[in-house]
Amino acid sequence: MEIRETFKNIGLKITPQRRAIYEVLCELKHCSIDDVISRIRDSHPDVTISTVYRIMDSFYESGLITKFINPQGKTIFDITSRDHYHIHTANGYLDIDDKQLSELIRRRISSKIPEGEELDKISIQITTKPITE
Ligand SMILES: [Zn+2]
Repeated sequence: MEIRETFKNIGLKITPQRRAIYEVLCELKHCSIDDVISRIRDSHPDVTISTVYRIMDSFYESGLITKFINPQGKTIFDITSRDHYHIHTANGYLDIDDKQLSELIRRRISSKIPEGEELDKISIQITTKPITE
């Protein structure tokens, strides 16, 4: 999707700072706020850390990005906002799309959700480790 359309869909105006951060997110796919800050400071030294935080918050609030906590307890931002799962490998995160798994979980879990609440998001994280012989 074209960047103008993406921003129009979420109701945010394109500013040079937002565009720069969005492009970093598209490039990195999964990243911490520190990753974004170090990339942005290289290309846009005028952008302050608080601006990066503010823009990342607005991207998250608008649903443009999602976030999850990795096995090390660090918040990772994700440019992919649709339902998907992660396999954490030694080299990063693999996105797994599995609609059947999502439907299975929704079916199996629906009777266990407290009254007055509904299932919002499913987050599954799978970790791997190097094979040692
Ligand atoms: Zn992802």
